[in-house]
Amino acid sequence: MVQWLEGKVVENKHWNHRLCSLSVDVQLPAFLAGQFIRVALPEVGDASQMEARPYSFVNAPHESLLEIYFNQVPAGSLSNRLGGLETGDTVYVADRPAGFMTEQEVPDGETLWLLATGTALGPFLSILKTPSIWQRFKKIVLVHGVRKADELTYGELIGRLQKLHEGRLTKINSVTREAFSGAMPERIPAAISSGELERLAGMALTAEHSRVMVCGNPGMVAESMAALESKGLKKHLRREPGQVLQEIYQ
Ligand SMILES: Cc1cc2nc3c(=O)[nH]c(=O)nc-3n(C[C@H](O)[C@H](O)[C@H](O)COP(=O)(O)OP(=O)(O)OC[C@H]3O[C@@H](n4cnc5c(N)ncnc54)[C@H](O)[C@@H]3O)c2cc1C
Repeated sequence: MVQWLEGKVVENKHWNHRLCSLSVDVQLPAFLAGQFIRVALPEVGDASQMEARPYSFVNAPHESLLEIYFNQVPAGSLSNRLGGLETGDTVYVADRPAGFMTEQEVPDGETLWLLATGTALGPFLSILKTPSIWQRFKKIVLVHGVRKADELTYGELIGRLQKLHEGRLTKINSVTREAFSGAMPERIPAAISSGELERLAGMALTAEHSRVMVCGNPGMVAESMAALESKGLKKHLRREPGQVLQEIYQ
């Protein structure tokens, strides 16, 4: 049986009308960067039940405040309730994290490619803030795909990480619904297929040297997987090693 840990909202940052980062003071269980945890509020009309959804950790395991990055989904039940929380409000967190899109599951390689759409950037921030990943990969390429430029969030944190790991973290943006200087207009799967992603990164995506984590909506993950397979990379399974780990937000 899941135990619900009671937490207090420290901050609910609204990046725009839909995107929020919620920081919660709660006694977190041990977790790995890249994992997710169920976050809950009592059901409306029946406080004995919890309404819960999974959200990825944005905080690294060494950071004590829980941070989640989420989208207030149109007509979405819990995400809009979480979006309305204010400092001091109570929120509940499950006592057990889950998920296999973690550094510990990634086979060794030279370059790590982190491909995210929308709020799926979150788990990659947790991974990038974890020192051990930088001991394992020479270079990391973070690719963030969004529709509009105001969804390109966490620029300050990513800038700090780039400074800290000088010359080793490349950030590539994809903005698909408006022209935005400094971002490619192609969606991530198309940019893999066309070779644009490799051109912008100045590095090749190869089964020999590259390891890839893909996180986002089901369509983006499936299309990225297909594009990577046509380059000779395949899904990594413990019983059948490959190069690509994935997580689907649904
Ligand atoms: C492993 C895992 C990790 C996740 N981590 C995150 C995270 O870090 N950040 C995050 O924002 N979400 C994340 N999600 C999605 C999240 O759990 C919820 O599904 C989402 O917040 C919608 O919940 P809701 O109660 O508001 O919508 P619901 O009332 O449950 O659903 C309303 C409708 O919206 C659709 N929907 C669900 N998610 C989206 C979306 N992102 N965009 C558009 N439509 C959607 C549903 O399919 C449904 O039709 C994750 C999902 C999984 C499975």
